[in-house]
Amino acid sequence: TAAGKGGGDVGSFDVGLPDAQMGKVVTRFPPEPSGYLHIGHAKAALLNQHFANIYQGRLLVRFDDTNPTKEKDEYVENIIKDMQTLGLQYKTITYTSDYFPQMLDLGERLIKAGVLYADDTPVDQMREERMHGIESKRRGRSPEETLAMFKEMQAGSEEGLKNCLRFKLDMQAGNKALRDPVAFRCNVTHHWRTGHTYKVYPTYDFACPFVDALEGVTHALRTSEYKDREAQYYWILEQQQKVWPGLPKVHIWDYSRLNFVYTVLSKRKLTWFVQTNRVDGWDDPRMPTVQGIFRRGLQVEALREFILSQGASKNVTYQEWDKIWTINKKLIDPVCPRHTAVAAAGKVLLTLEGAPASPESSTIAKHKKNAAVGSKTLLKLGRVWLDQADGQEVQEGEEVTLMDWGNAIIKSVSKGPDGQVTGLTGTLNLAGDFKKTRLKLTWLADVSELVPLTLTDFDYLITKKKVEEDDDFEQLVNPTTKFESAALGDVNMAALKKGDLLQLERKGYFICDVPYGGSADKPAVLFSIPDGRTK
Ligand code: ATP
Ligand code: MG
Ligand code: MG
Repeated sequence: TAAGKGGGDVGSFDVGLPDAQMGKVVTRFPPEPSGYLHIGHAKAALLNQHFANIYQGRLLVRFDDTNPTKEKDEYVENIIKDMQTLGLQYKTITYTSDYFPQMLDLGERLIKAGVLYADDTPVDQMREERMHGIESKRRGRSPEETLAMFKEMQAGSEEGLKNCLRFKLDMQAGNKALRDPVAFRCNVTHHWRTGHTYKVYPTYDFACPFVDALEGVTHALRTSEYKDREAQYYWILEQQQKVWPGLPKVHIWDYSRLNFVYTVLSKRKLTWFVQTNRVDGWDDPRMPTVQGIFRRGLQVEALREFILSQGASKNVTYQEWDKIWTINKKLIDPVCPRHTAVAAAGKVLLTLEGAPASPESSTIAKHKKNAAVGSKTLLKLGRVWLDQADGQEVQEGEEVTLMDWGNAIIKSVSKGPDGQVTGLTGTLNLAGDFKKTRLKLTWLADVSELVPLTLTDFDYLITKKKVEEDDDFEQLVNPTTKFESAALGDVNMAALKKGDLLQLERKGYFICDVPYGGSADKPAVLFSIPDGRTK
């Protein structure tokens, strides 16, 4: 009953799956191993998990590997990794290819029942005929003829390879998905799992209802753009049930496909970005893949909250990235250690009277409101580095606050001919009131142990806000999407490990991608984590 509302309580929405019985619901996540998982697949995975949980049922995972041309071991391995990252709970993984022998048998039974016919109409002509509701000249083939041809197809003979098997359904149906859909197709490509054993493969349309039913799936979740195909799924399953006694019923439940602004979500298009080296791989932080977004600093919990917050809405909308990053920020802010960095370009030395002549060390909290985050070393010294931008802001004679230290009065500001600030002098004024200063500055003691950093920011890969199905996405590629700048970090940052989250005071949230390598040419590489505020 909550359908269509969206929003709603996180984790508590229950749309009331049809015929759902507590403890008996079985859902499934069926990725095709033709790429890594993207955020749209993550929605499918997490929704299926959610329904399995709220009905105390089970989630099945099945690799839908019916097209040898697109599938690879690499994809299988990485999808498994991605499912682990998403925290999916499932006992075993099955493969549609495990059921090939049964499906060949099923094909034979359906041929004998007169439901399938072998057709060698060329692909283009078949498409035309389907468009115009023209029946194939092979539609009248007898079951004996089709059976013989099915053997030829399986043997991979020249004649056989020209054929496919089609359902004799209704070439005049208004719903084109019902115009004699293809059930089996020949393909002589090496299959990632079964090698060259098979030359005939069931289509998704044939395999999906059968394997769903055989595995005991009670509720098959599908994205709503396949609504047209629902009638086909039920009709095919019905034919299969007639010749395969005991095959149970499956309910389809549709939900909205996830789209994001400035993003393409399709394995085919994402493969193109990888293959043309426009990104550094499937796990590039600019990619909307599970590996990309988590490498960029998204937390699984934020993703889950975001997806469940969309509720059962069936509206296909384009989501704003800001929305998901805002949820993420709320989760990481209370637990992120705070650190300090100064941009290397144009950094300004402030010489302070009344401050220690050699580094004076103290220990302070990494997070002022959360002691559990731990403590860090603070070094105070009479020479501190400031950002050029802050050097530009300060006025001679102004009292400023040096964060985590105290106030200082700026005495002189030296500038070069180009207006760059080249140096500052000042006097420490620890008795000063930080509430009365205009500027709270981040600073770093000028010690040799400062950690070289590369700060990396990213832009969207695509320049168009809402990419449509028939847009030529290759024309919409953003030419520059990676921005690197050098900085110096506080001495504590030498201990950052890959995947550590942090906040650089006054700069934003970051995730450590490469830890510091111990020398100037091996800086720590930090990726900026969006915080939901559009820049
Ligand atoms: P793609 O074109 O991106 O490869 P697909 O549907 O062909 O998508 P599958 O591996 O078959 O990829 O998808 C696995 C599951 O994820 C399916 O149930 C599919 O409906 C679902 N899914 C795919 N893309 C999205 C999306 N953008 N939003 C929600 N669910 C999706
Ligand atoms: Mg698919
Ligand atoms: Mg696809």
